[in-house]
Amino acid sequence: MSPRPGDRMRQLLKRLQTRSFGRVFRRLYTIAKRYGFTASRYREALKTFVDDAASLRITPTFPVTADLLSKHGSIIKEIQDLGAEFAIHGYRHIDYSLTDAATFGRHLEKAGELFAAHGVAHAGFRFPYLKMSDEHLRLLSENGFSWDSSTVISWDVVDEQAFTAVQRENYRRILDTYSASAHETAISVPAIRHGMVEIPVAVPDDDMIVERLECSDEETIYRYWNAMFSSVLEHQESLVLQLHPERFFIFREPLFRLLDEAAANSDVWLASLGEIADWWRLRHQFRPQFSRTGNGELEVRYPLDGRITVCWMHADETRFSFEHREANGDCVCRIPGDVLPIVGLAGGAESDATLVGCLDAEGYVYETADRESEYAVMIEKRSTYDTADVEERLARARRPLMKLGRWPSGCRAALAVTGDIDCIDVFDFFNRIAG
Ligand SMILES: [Zn+2]
Repeated sequence: MSPRPGDRMRQLLKRLQTRSFGRVFRRLYTIAKRYGFTASRYREALKTFVDDAASLRITPTFPVTADLLSKHGSIIKEIQDLGAEFAIHGYRHIDYSLTDAATFGRHLEKAGELFAAHGVAHAGFRFPYLKMSDEHLRLLSENGFSWDSSTVISWDVVDEQAFTAVQRENYRRILDTYSASAHETAISVPAIRHGMVEIPVAVPDDDMIVERLECSDEETIYRYWNAMFSSVLEHQESLVLQLHPERFFIFREPLFRLLDEAAANSDVWLASLGEIADWWRLRHQFRPQFSRTGNGELEVRYPLDGRITVCWMHADETRFSFEHREANGDCVCRIPGDVLPIVGLAGGAESDATLVGCLDAEGYVYETADRESEYAVMIEKRSTYDTADVEERLARARRPLMKLGRWPSGCRAALAVTGDIDCIDVFDFFNRIAG
């Protein structure tokens, strides 16, 4: 699928706004020196990456373009057989935000066919250059994808005074192209958008630290990533470390130092992006059944898969009359009163992505409703919502109110490792920058 000449020029011009010619060719030299002219060194990096991760029971997720898969299919299959998870990183490594929907749809279809023909699983997607839009996300959903991981959250962990003005400028310029949300104002957890699970990736990544800040110091890399991880643990969020396997031997030590510590911490759920997406969907779809007992109590019944944690927020210290697990695995309890301990959404409020994202993030159970008196709290459709707005409404909700734990089995945070496979040998790299 060759691009049209006009598309090719627009893509090239766009890339040159973030990379000077000098930088591109310095990078080409680095790539040639680091990997040579065959795929063998990249293959070795991928194998070592997966082996190291397997020793900690971690499954890394590697988005790869379909054109690389068709050229290096045997390597990708070998790495999949070693236990890695793959996702589609476009048909080619181009900025899809500059292509129309029809072109993107065609690329998706062709990429899906190629992955299927090679027997490589592909439930997820990551946009090249992390450039996406709602329209593109909708097309992913229509094409049967389950998750995407292209939104970006940035942590302010870089000690800028340690770098030159040029390095800082290069760092900021690439950050600008990602349209990243600052972690101070954004919550780092997945969200359901257009039926897709969107999983945010974390920056600074290896590219920003090693190439833009020109820092390969292992202690510094560890310090940055560990600061990000500590804040995720504190706020009970997810950290998706986005890395590029071509630099594996530069970040191997700090990455696995961090992963070792995370694996030893029972509060941390180490998961692949596919596992995170499945979990978030399961939790999003969790719906208990309610029945009124006739004696002033409400029976609440929900299936337990052993991983979902249900927390109850009480008005006082009153506990339920009983709570037990039935033979079929359902959990049953009775709560006082006949008010449903969940959030009612009225007037189309359930279609508001901000509101639903906020409820999902905090673990509130909700359903479409029309009678305010039946729900612990009712939220009506508005033109806009902000997080503080929703939190204020929930703080005034009647109790008891049920909430779901954010991560499986009571874990406090989730950690995933993912690496974009953008080129495997130096010829792939040249093809990529030539458009
Ligand atoms: Zn990429």
